[in-house]
Amino acid sequence: PPIIVRDLAVALGLKPFKLISEVSQATGGFAGINSSLDEPVAMKIAEKYGFLLEVKHRGEAVAPQKVKTADTKAKIEEEEQKNLTPRPPVICILGHVDHGKTSLLDAIRKANVASGEAGGITQHIGAYQIEFQGKKLTFLDTPGHAAFSKMRARGADVTDIAVLVVAADDGFMPQTDEALKHAQNADVAIIVAVNKMDVKGANIEQVKSQMQQRNIAPEDWGGETITVPVSAIKGTGVDQLLEMILLQAEVLELKANPKAEASGVVIESEIEIGRGSVATVIVQRGTLRVGDALVCGQHWTRVKALFSDKGEQIKEATPSTPVRIIGWSGTPDSGATFRAVKNPREAERLAEEAEQRTRKEATVAAAEPKEVSVEQLFADIAATQHKVLKLLIKTDVFGSTEALRSVLDGIKSTKVQVEVLAADVGLVTKNDVLMASASGAVIVGFNTKLENGVTPLAKHHNVRIESFQIIYELGDKVREMMADLLEPEQ
Ligand code: GDP
Repeated sequence: PPIIVRDLAVALGLKPFKLISEVSQATGGFAGINSSLDEPVAMKIAEKYGFLLEVKHRGEAVAPQKVKTADTKAKIEEEEQKNLTPRPPVICILGHVDHGKTSLLDAIRKANVASGEAGGITQHIGAYQIEFQGKKLTFLDTPGHAAFSKMRARGADVTDIAVLVVAADDGFMPQTDEALKHAQNADVAIIVAVNKMDVKGANIEQVKSQMQQRNIAPEDWGGETITVPVSAIKGTGVDQLLEMILLQAEVLELKANPKAEASGVVIESEIEIGRGSVATVIVQRGTLRVGDALVCGQHWTRVKALFSDKGEQIKEATPSTPVRIIGWSGTPDSGATFRAVKNPREAERLAEEAEQRTRKEATVAAAEPKEVSVEQLFADIAATQHKVLKLLIKTDVFGSTEALRSVLDGIKSTKVQVEVLAADVGLVTKNDVLMASASGAVIVGFNTKLENGVTPLAKHHNVRIESFQIIYELGDKVREMMADLLEPEQ
């Protein structure tokens, strides 16, 4: 049976257009979502993503498993098992806007960071670690799903436990459901914190019944979901919440091998004046030490200094520890994974290779015959009866995605149809440009920035990118683009 791009993408957990660009790179030709692939090509791509492709010759297409080659696998596993040591849980806080995510993160941190520590300064570096009842807990300090989903999109499942915040006076809202869906898809343990219990009109019973409707019934209703009433503002219930998180962590038996070469995930990165590129990472495996050579996609560094979330210099970071690393060759993306390699030379070489791969990807894509300029696209559309304005949307948070959709739904026209090909959270990436180019879509960014290198690539492919901070301006622009579609050519 043929191996179809769409099926393979699903099997590998890749976005279809990511796979399309992989296929183009591997074959030098153009592939679409319904293209069939030769087995060796599919094999090679699967391998690149750490899968062994098993093609069933009768019945369904693919059944991949995440394995390395058999004998090294056995050895690695034995070594791993021996060295596995308990590690702190990594927790993220999700929920609807204004339900108190930031307040809860602040309350947890304030109550559990000794006031003398680093002058009590609370730095925001994207993650922090506290100690509660002698146990460590790491919190992602980037509330909202933006960070969470961006990392997931890159396949980096850094979170162990998601705390779903629901305001007691408001109940489940669209973003609460969205967050729930994402947490469930990510297969992380979910704890519900019913916040704002101090507010008049707080109605925890209603929240619980909403939980039941969503098949996450609370424990006292015969379900399994731990539910804790809290008030982030008053600080009540916060200790109970932490206790429950620890309990849940114990059940999960989280472990990692601190003896391995360090590897982990970038949580946040930025350029700091005088320090260059700085990235907050969470170590997932191994121990990160000063002097390590790291590679992270196209970027690398030799670790000259490590800083804790309290701004103190530290010598090493064990699994689940958030740590800040300065002096990268460029700014690594959040969600990207890093690993320690033999020496700086090796790191630099690997980074260069990664960069060349990306460049080749762009060139191959540029050679695709399918490429359509916006003008061409509009002309094509004008030639047909059916006029469609295709959009690829990127926003800062899920809430914005929802808001945009409702604005777009409000724009009605019998002559032009607006088709949203994808609406995701995060930066506008090179892959977005490739996808827009392949499908003839316009990229619409709302409250988000462009990844490095996107502008030249978009120019190269004649892909139009429109960025907005104000929602009604976006609505106006979309109307304008729709009107343009209706203008007779020439
Ligand atoms: P986020 O958007 O989910 O991060 O929500 P914030 O933490 O920014 O909180 C939104 C608003 O709700 C702020 O005005 C907070 O002061 C308020 N708030 C948060 N938690 C509580 C709470 O437990 N009780 C009360 N009364 N107000 C709260």
